[in-house]
Amino acid sequence: MLSSFWTGFIDNIVDEKDKNPTLYSLVKQLKPIELTESKIVLGCDNAGFAMLLNKRAPLIEKRLSNYTGNKLRLEIVITPKKKRKEEPLFKFEPSIEDVFSKARLINSFRFDNFAVSSSNQVAYAASQAVSKTPSEAYNPLFLYGGVGVGKTHLAQAVARKILETSPEKKVLFCPGDLFMNELIESIREKNTPRFRRKYRALDLLIVDDIQFISGKNTVQEEFFHTFNTIVSSGGQIILTSDRSPKEIKNLQDRLRSRFSGGLTVDIQAPDFELRTAILLIKAREKNIQIDIDLAKIISDQINDLRELEGTLLSIYARALTKDGKITIGIVESHFSHEKDNDIRKFGPSDVIRSVCSYYNIKLSHIKGPGRSERVAVPRQVAMFLLRKELGLKYEEIAYILKRKDHTTIMYGVEKINSVLIKDSVFKQEVDRIINSLKQ
Ligand code: ADP
Ligand code: MG
Repeated sequence: MLSSFWTGFIDNIVDEKDKNPTLYSLVKQLKPIELTESKIVLGCDNAGFAMLLNKRAPLIEKRLSNYTGNKLRLEIVITPKKKRKEEPLFKFEPSIEDVFSKARLINSFRFDNFAVSSSNQVAYAASQAVSKTPSEAYNPLFLYGGVGVGKTHLAQAVARKILETSPEKKVLFCPGDLFMNELIESIREKNTPRFRRKYRALDLLIVDDIQFISGKNTVQEEFFHTFNTIVSSGGQIILTSDRSPKEIKNLQDRLRSRFSGGLTVDIQAPDFELRTAILLIKAREKNIQIDIDLAKIISDQINDLRELEGTLLSIYARALTKDGKITIGIVESHFSHEKDNDIRKFGPSDVIRSVCSYYNIKLSHIKGPGRSERVAVPRQVAMFLLRKELGLKYEEIAYILKRKDHTTIMYGVEKINSVLIKDSVFKQEVDRIINSLKQ
């Protein structure tokens, strides 16, 4: 009878919900305890809640007397908390998802979807070790390598693992440029103490692409202290960069030595097998069905991991216009469409001529026996372009360039592939040759 009175009242004030949502949701969570002619006793969970209610008591009393037709005094008592099924009004415990996003972690960068191969196994093992015993294994862990080799993925996976085990830890993933801008801002606003409180108290700080710090003296000064404070109070630091500490230009010596003071590991460009494995992982995550042989055809053509994902998506988009199934026909039409877009009007001899003129060497050199770097690099670039731009077979290229066998060509193409990923200046050179061909 008491509870039906109460639910009747709640129904009666449901119209209040829009006008006064707080009142409605507060009242809804009360438990009726006693009802007499002159008063109603309601129970609530905690003192803070009771205070909010007492402030609104006159309002609630007015609604009650409207409902019952006689004047009722409201009495709030605090009842010990019972385990309740429904959502509490105020949540104090952040969910693990909140914890991850507060640390700036992205869902798709985890250990369980990271494929391991010879090019990244040392980095992977080191990252695992750091995630298991942070600040004891390697401090800092310095990961470096070309664009898209998985540095950010690994660093984030470590952070995620640490938070999974200890969600109370203070973890922050920080892109290098953001770290710098925040610091510069705080110096300008004369608010470095706040910056220091935020960063120096961390259990794990990841600065992704630390090379941005190069040449910035004040930033380096501050980072040096951030680094020392975190490490000396038992925290872990992970740094990633496109090059090794030794190769970062305009870096203070004391930072360089800090950076190299833990473990420095490089991640190499992914080989064909790894690219295939990653393509299959990405496909599965996106619920895209693809045959392993087709995955191989795609990863044979695309060296860049980020481009790999994009290619998968556009091939899938193409498949969706049919019945959603990726077939060899769809893959081939994707690549031939790409080629049409470039309007290829050049042949093998144009490629070789462009390479020779770019590097200023003679045709007889590129086809000759010489092995000095001055001719060997251009020759490998020619192999690479004949393969990637014209799609020639290794045997054909060997014949054209007067090499003994096709393994030399395979080696040359792979070599250029891996340098391209690591060395952006070299990539620009090769792009320039390609552009000159397309004109
Ligand atoms: P980097 O930070 O080295 O430039 P990322 O970590 O951003 O590269 O990786 C680029 C893309 O390739 C991401 O989508 C990432 O998930 C993926 N990737 C790189 N390496 C691997 C790997 N070994 N296994 C699975 N995915 C990978
Ligand atoms: Mg990155």
